[in-house]
Formats: sequence, C-alpha cells, structure tokens
Amino acid sequence: MNLSSPSTSSASSHPLALYGWDERWETEFAPYTEEGLLPGRVVRVDRGQCDVVTADGVVRADTAFVTPDDPLRVVCTGDWAAVDPGGNPRYVRAYLPRRTAFVRSTSSKRSEGQILAANVDHAVVAVSLAVELDLGRVERFLALAWESGAQPVVVLTKADLVPDPVTLAHLVQDVETSAPGVPVIPVSALHGDGLDALVALVGSGTSVLLGQSGAGKSTLANGLAGADIMQVQAARDVDGKGRHTTTTRNLLTLPSGGALIDTPGLRGVGMYDAGTGVGQVFAEIEELAAGCRFHDCAHEAEPGCAVRSAVENGDLPDRRLESYRKLVRENQWTVAKSDARLRSELKKEWQRKGLAGKAAGEAKRRSWH
Ligand code: GDP
Ligand code: ZN
Repeated sequence: MNLSSPSTSSASSHPLALYGWDERWETEFAPYTEEGLLPGRVVRVDRGQCDVVTADGVVRADTAFVTPDDPLRVVCTGDWAAVDPGGNPRYVRAYLPRRTAFVRSTSSKRSEGQILAANVDHAVVAVSLAVELDLGRVERFLALAWESGAQPVVVLTKADLVPDPVTLAHLVQDVETSAPGVPVIPVSALHGDGLDALVALVGSGTSVLLGQSGAGKSTLANGLAGADIMQVQAARDVDGKGRHTTTTRNLLTLPSGGALIDTPGLRGVGMYDAGTGVGQVFAEIEELAAGCRFHDCAHEAEPGCAVRSAVENGDLPDRRLESYRKLVRENQWTVAKSDARLRSELKKEWQRKGLAGKAAGEAKRRSWH
C-alpha cells in the first residue's frame, strides 16, 4: 500500500501528518531526503530492531547505526527516523534531534537514565478521584512532565465518584493551585463527561499517559482510541511489500486526531534530573524567591526571605513549600548518584542539616508506580 506520491510537498497533506510530521521536521529531514532516505516515525523498538511507520507503510529496520553507548541517545519510540528505502535488512541511518524526551532513572548504580519516549507534546497525568488527592504525588508527575519538555495536563479521572459539583470544583481548584500553567480536566470515562475536552487537547501532536497504577490510564487510552487499545496496538499493518504483519505498537494514531504513546515503562516512570521541572511546578515559589535578600536563599532561616514571609502571611500554603523542599532535595540526590563530587558536597551539607537520611529515603520511595 503506497500512500505517498513523490510530488507530495506540503507537510500537512503528507501521509505522516497523522503521526505529527510537520514543516519543521520536513526541513530538518531535507539532507536525508537528498541521500534518498525515507522519513518515518518509530512506533516500537525491540532487540536491535524497530518498527517505523513511513509513507509506504510500516517497515522493520535494524537499529545498529542508532544504538550508541549513551543510553539517552539510543533510538526510541517517537523518534523521527531516516530509513533505507530498500535492502535486506533495512537500517535506521539516523534520527532527527528530539524536541522533547522522557527519561527515567535506572535502578542501577550508574544513574544514567533510560530514554522512554521522544517528541511528546502533551503529558497527560491521570489522577484518580476515587482516592484522596495526594498533591505531592501530582507535583512529582508534573515535574517529570515539565522536565521532558512536554506540556502537562492533569486529568482528574472517575469524576462520577464525586457527584457533588461544588466538591468537584474544589478538588479541581486544589490541583490548579498546585499546578500553575497546567490545564486541569475532570473526566468520567464511565459517563463520558469531560472526554471532549481531553480529545480536543490531545487532538494534535503526540501525547503520553502518566499516573499511578489504577488511576484510569488504560480506560482513558481506550476512550481516546475508541476501542480496546490492546486490539488497536496489535492492528494488522501492511508493510511495504504488501504483506500483513501483526505487530504491537507503542505509538498509535487516534481517530479524532493526534498520536498516543503508551508503553509499560512510561506508566510507572520515576524522576531523573528533573531540576527544571521542579522549578516550573513551583513557579510561584521561584517567583517569590526572586525577592529574597540572598541569591542562594534556601528559605530556611535566612533573613529577608520572601518565600517564608509569604507563608507567614498566608499567601503561600506551608504544604507547598514543604513539597518544594522535598522535591528539590530528592532531585539533588538523583543527580548526585551520577556525580561523586556533588555527592560528597551534598552529604556534608545534609549532615549539617540532618537531612541525609531523609533525602535518601525519599529517593528510594520514588519507585512508586
Ligand atoms: P490504570 O492502571 O491507570 O490503567 O487504570 P485502569 O484504566 O485499569 O482503571 C482502574 C480501575 O478504575 C478500573 O477498575 C476501571 O474500571 C476504573 N475506572 C476507570 N475510569 C473510571 C471512571 O471514569 N469511573 C469509574 N467509576 N471507574 C473508572
Ligand atoms: Zn528565601
């Protein structure tokens, strides 16, 4: 099945537009086009091979050229790849620089991180209303989302379990306060309430679903895909040679527009060097901190601390500051795992503050799912 015509020039009418192909990608890809390579999006990677959706259908390609030693530079689901037009095996020759990337810390001693998904535009954080809101946990997911470069969205799932609209509005407001710059959408997959707003949001670009186990991610994915996602993922593809192959995809297009990356690894993702992300989750604290007397104020006991005075006069909830400190500490610990000098410096500082054990414990507990 050949969907392309060689004269196709506009990115928006390109068969890969459904997968997020746009003029910027097209421009960046130009040198590879000159070499006669085909653009395609990686929908699955496993053991030295990957599946790439191209204008000619899904092709399987060898990843030998794009599996460098640095685990963060290994080709991954969501990458835009340059593939051989033919040959056996075909190879992925290169991939375009990533606009965004989700990484997770490995449990190994060498805290190198692992690339989970590339070129994600929206990070949908599913938070269940069936259990008590844990704003600290929401903040962690948001830090990770901001750090990836994607725009976070919070979806409050199972809204049907909160029938009182006033209570629901309060819950939405609580999350909004903890999530500056992040849309918060209550959704009931059961009744379909709120799904339209989510569909509109993920209708362009690429999305991922994050959140604890049981938060309702699979249900949302099924709702967005309009079918059982496992069946969608195993949809029969037609490869370039007209053969039918059944493959499990980790990236699929949605009937109402947009693409969704759903991998088991992403679902229980941890934090990895989320420094920038933490700053964005706590934008109002960083803003207040600009008014502290000392540039490196830790908002503990320093004189002229604008952050602590905001807590004292009730402008900033105490919980937010605590949560901020905790994430900053925990993040320092994650970074320190890969940096011996920083590690010993932090250890000294934490010993002085009596925080060392606490931060290590927090880092350990990061393995929530
Ligand atoms: P995941 O682990 O995040 O993928 O969560 P699931 O999608 O498997 O959902 C966990 C449970 O929540 C399942 O029993 C779902 O039926 C239930 N659930 C999901 N969405 C809703 C909803 O909108 N309302 C209600 N009442 N239950 C839901
Ligand atoms: Zn301060």
